[in-house]
Amino acid sequence: MVKTTESKTGVMAMKRLQQWIILLLATLVTFVAVIGYHNYTHAQSSSPAPKLTLQTAGLTLKELGSGVYGLIASTDFPPQDPNVAICNGGIAIGTDSVLVIDPFQNTPLAELMFATVKKLTDKPISYVLNTHYHFDHTGGNPAAKARGISIIGRSPIREFMLDRNQERDPNPTPPTLVLNSDSSIWLGDREIQLHKVEGHSGGTDLVAYVPDAKVLFTGDILFHQRIPYIADGNIKQWQASLAELITTYPDATILPGHGAVTNRQGLQSLSRYFQDLEKLALTWKKESLTKEQVLARFAQVPAAYKEYKFQGLYQSNLETAYQQITLATN
Ligand SMILES: [Zn+2]
Repeated sequence: MVKTTESKTGVMAMKRLQQWIILLLATLVTFVAVIGYHNYTHAQSSSPAPKLTLQTAGLTLKELGSGVYGLIASTDFPPQDPNVAICNGGIAIGTDSVLVIDPFQNTPLAELMFATVKKLTDKPISYVLNTHYHFDHTGGNPAAKARGISIIGRSPIREFMLDRNQERDPNPTPPTLVLNSDSSIWLGDREIQLHKVEGHSGGTDLVAYVPDAKVLFTGDILFHQRIPYIADGNIKQWQASLAELITTYPDATILPGHGAVTNRQGLQSLSRYFQDLEKLALTWKKESLTKEQVLARFAQVPAAYKEYKFQGLYQSNLETAYQQITLATN
């Protein structure tokens, strides 16, 4: 009896030990699986940036005329993510090739633009145009260079990109084809007219017009429903260019450098903005205000422009207006 009881106890102890080992193994397997999954998901989330889409880049593709498209950026400035496009881009498809306008601020966004062209047409991209030298319109140039596509800009764009863009674009890739006067590009049978304008970027601004579709790409001569960037510009020259564009292209569909698709009313709105700023700057002159007094008293964006994006640029607009109109130094 005693012996039997002892052996029964021994068997039960052995069974309990087996159960513990099984439980321990199961726990270990679960632990390893959880750690493994965690590492896997972590590796996934820290892997290189996900593939860009028009949506992640904050862009909307819109047909502006037959075979003429805009990639329209919706971000405020500065954008939350470097791969969100700051400016608008343009695409004009000719009978044998394609012109791309302003390939955004970096290579991934330019690649997204080229991939978008490929979805629209089998024709090759023959030219990339920079409407001026600022980094948000030219930072994507390396993608064009890598594909052997000619990059067009207006003198003195090379010097400006190499001298002034370093901070935002450490490896600037300036145009290889530099224009000094109004010119035309022929994409097979389709003409694209390039026209010089002044006022935004110290001598590199040009607009592109597709006459058969009546579509005008203005670059940054037009900021639509955005506070414009004018620190590098000349307000009086800019106003003259807006007046000229309103007269020359009265019925064009217009893609601005920043903001939604518009027409001459968009040009007129920016012209009114400059008139308001000029009036304000002349009152500062009358009252002999210092720049510091102006910045302290007029920091509020006027009610008419409260809904505009790029509000952060307003203070520098005051400074430029003070310099150019109140002091009239240029
Ligand atoms: Zn811009």
